[in-house]
Amino acid sequence: MSVYPTTHFDQKIAIVGGGLVGPTAELFLRAAGFSDVTTYEATTKNAQSGGIVGLNGAASFALRGVGIDPDALTASQATQGMVYDISPDGETTSSRAVDLGGVNVAWDVLHQAVTQEGTVRQGKRAIGIAAGDRGAVVSFDDSTSIEADIVVFADGRNSFGRSVLGPQQEPTYQDHVIWRGITRPPSPAPDCFSCYKNTDEGVVLFVSDPITRGVHSGRSDWLLYQNVTADAYRDLLGITPQSRYYVQAKHVTTKAREALEGYAQAKLPEHLAANGIAH
Ligand SMILES: Cc1cc2nc3c(=O)[nH]c(=O)nc-3n(C[C@H](O)[C@H](O)[C@H](O)COP(=O)(O)OP(=O)(O)OC[C@H]3O[C@@H](n4cnc5c(N)ncnc54)[C@H](O)[C@@H]3O)c2cc1C
Repeated sequence: MSVYPTTHFDQKIAIVGGGLVGPTAELFLRAAGFSDVTTYEATTKNAQSGGIVGLNGAASFALRGVGIDPDALTASQATQGMVYDISPDGETTSSRAVDLGGVNVAWDVLHQAVTQEGTVRQGKRAIGIAAGDRGAVVSFDDSTSIEADIVVFADGRNSFGRSVLGPQQEPTYQDHVIWRGITRPPSPAPDCFSCYKNTDEGVVLFVSDPITRGVHSGRSDWLLYQNVTADAYRDLLGITPQSRYYVQAKHVTTKAREALEGYAQAKLPEHLAANGIAH
């Protein structure tokens, strides 16, 4: 006997947001038996195009459950990483190998894998939700609307769903920024994920070995973690942290790029700074 009432499987489900979570939720709902599931994505072109995403064992297991083999998406063959402790002027003081665990995939390749079996409808920005005969009516910025029994919000940091359902749950800025970029690999190119830690200042830089799949093949992914106060954020980017939680490349100002370059020159190992991490 099934513990699930089968009559519910014909419910119409609308998922708002076609990043990684929305289409993945669609796959899981379909695998569970729901057949009328549609994902609505605001943009017509993916704003996030690449970079490495680490999938841990649980994420890999879950993806296998919906027919996606994470090993087939691997964008880095490295199974080990290196951690380098660096002094405030970028000298390496100690190093050790670490087990990476999991699988490193490229964002765009993973996104393609989770969207190809689904129904993502692009150019559909949800701007309204109201009670309807069927449950809810969702309206979009192209003047269309749909009815659904269940609406799932997977619309990211500036969630429209959260602004309606939990307006008091606004994210708060934690005085911390992760700068991220894709660049030609430093020379010498790392043969595994490398982590440079300046523990005195709480700064960590990750650099990936060259990516082997997707739009950024042959390039390296870097992330720089920095403590940045709200005032400094405003000074660097000309906006408040609350007005944009996620800053795309086109929004990174010359001032912020120069500050990052200056930081890299002064604080990071020479072979990383020489390549220009802010490009
Ligand atoms: C390169 C990269 C590497 C990462 N690596 C890791 C990692 O190793 N480990 C980890 O834990 N996390 C990692 N992250 C973060 C993690 O991937 C994200 O937290 C996660 O993908 C968020 O997915 P999401 O679908 O919830 O949100 P998003 O990716 O923000 O997607 C939300 C989608 O909703 C759409 N949308 C927004 N508003 C509306 C609306 N009103 N109507 C319709 N659509 C709307 C947006 O256009 C967007 O496509 C990484 C992120 C990136 C970009």
